[in-house]
Amino acid sequence: MTNDVRVRFAPSPTGGLHLGGVRTVLFNYLFAKHTGGKFILRIEDTDRTRYVEGAEQYIYDCLAWCGLNPDESPLLGGEYAPYRQSERKDIYRQYAEQLIAQGNAYYAFDTSEELEQMRANLKSEQNPSPQYDHKTRMSMRNSLSLTNEEVEKLIESGAPYVVRIKMPENERVGFTDMIRGHIENETELVDDKVLLKADGMPTYHLAVVVDDYLMKITHAFRGEEWLPSAPVHILLWKYLGWEAEMPQWAHLPLILKPDGNGKLSKRDGQRLGFPVFAMSWTDPSTGETINGFKEEGFLPEAFVNILAMLGWKDDSEQEIFSMQELIDKFSIDRVHKGGAKFDYDKAKWFNQQHIQQKSNEDLLPLVKSFFEKEGVTPDDESLLQVISLIKERCQLLTDFWPQGHFFFKSPSDIDTDTIKAKWTDEKKTFFNDWMETFANITDWNSEQIEASFNETTAKHSLKKGEVMLPLRIMLVGGKYGPGVYDIAAHIGKEETKNRIISALQLIEE
Ligand code: GLU
Repeated sequence: MTNDVRVRFAPSPTGGLHLGGVRTVLFNYLFAKHTGGKFILRIEDTDRTRYVEGAEQYIYDCLAWCGLNPDESPLLGGEYAPYRQSERKDIYRQYAEQLIAQGNAYYAFDTSEELEQMRANLKSEQNPSPQYDHKTRMSMRNSLSLTNEEVEKLIESGAPYVVRIKMPENERVGFTDMIRGHIENETELVDDKVLLKADGMPTYHLAVVVDDYLMKITHAFRGEEWLPSAPVHILLWKYLGWEAEMPQWAHLPLILKPDGNGKLSKRDGQRLGFPVFAMSWTDPSTGETINGFKEEGFLPEAFVNILAMLGWKDDSEQEIFSMQELIDKFSIDRVHKGGAKFDYDKAKWFNQQHIQQKSNEDLLPLVKSFFEKEGVTPDDESLLQVISLIKERCQLLTDFWPQGHFFFKSPSDIDTDTIKAKWTDEKKTFFNDWMETFANITDWNSEQIEASFNETTAKHSLKKGEVMLPLRIMLVGGKYGPGVYDIAAHIGKEETKNRIISALQLIEE
């Protein structure tokens, strides 16, 4: 392929970025990088009623976190600027007018009450949900049903109007989707979509075609939910005389709920307890904040890997990919047609694999921020050691604190019930004796600690297992954590002794 490849992600800034949206970004990005083309970010903000403050900045932040950086965008500019549709308002009208002049579109003056009335009046058994189309348009108030004089008068008087596409009655509109192959639709079933709204703003249908053309987009990847609109867009490309330059389309499969059918929604995430957005999103109207994958402790490289595997697979069994490997191997014709079920446990497994692959030094600043949130600021040297001890137990970055808090703070909760269930005077004597023995260790490291522990258990004719679990609980609080001698070595001799003494007091209470 040549370097003329230009793809775009064209979000509407209406709220949090769903993982399906980020996957669309990813496939655009991988395709562009694989072919040496350009990845464009265009903000589709023409629907002012759905516009949400802060949502555009949030899109930039999410893309930056994922490392999916565009080549052209509202922030970066580029040859085809502006990249924010609200700043391109004046561009679209001339194309709407061209379509009207050619007879492919018309003015419609109907008020919302009249539209409702139409739906009520025309409802019949044959047409249970009437829409604005070839069947109904002549009973409405538009430039097809009114005389030229009436239309001119209405426009001169400043009556609000929209421009609608005139969908042909019975044509078949076909195109070849890069994932789904040849698709054909009956125009009969599609309504006369609004192209230009009463406020002078284009709708998505007109703006997407005009901008994909003017921005020289060669391939357009978008969600499957846009498939029903494809015939409208294809006709617009044709009517505007741009058919030869129409991008190749690929409609990406939906990401499905893990426990049933249908698209995974924000609500499914809340219901099942996992994130659906890339990063945390605060709804400015309600103040409600929903955590994203970032805040739940995912690494961006793992998040990207997870998304790639939701719908794409190369010809091997490989599952763990770096961004560079994805760029090298990605091809759009290996994206499946069927929806991909989201599996949160599998997502965590991906993250765990990426945590293991990352160096302790690279994990350090990330893990540190989660410790700081808990009010603990460990020194780097010490945290690096802890990371290497507990890394393999952590699926999420948020697991480092519960798996490692006891290295920096004595546990506030000690599971004394478990200790007490099998507590004996011999064990108490053992711990008191061992504390005296280990007081003499000069080189406090895990080998020395283990040796003195073994020696003392033998002296008291105890099995190691009988006192090892109580020791773990005394140092950590519960039945978890890495090697107990490593923990003792890390927290130091004094702290080990203090924790044993206070646990003994609790046990004896
Ligand atoms: N603005 C549309 C959306 O937010 C873009 C669809 C497209 O990529 O064409 O879904």
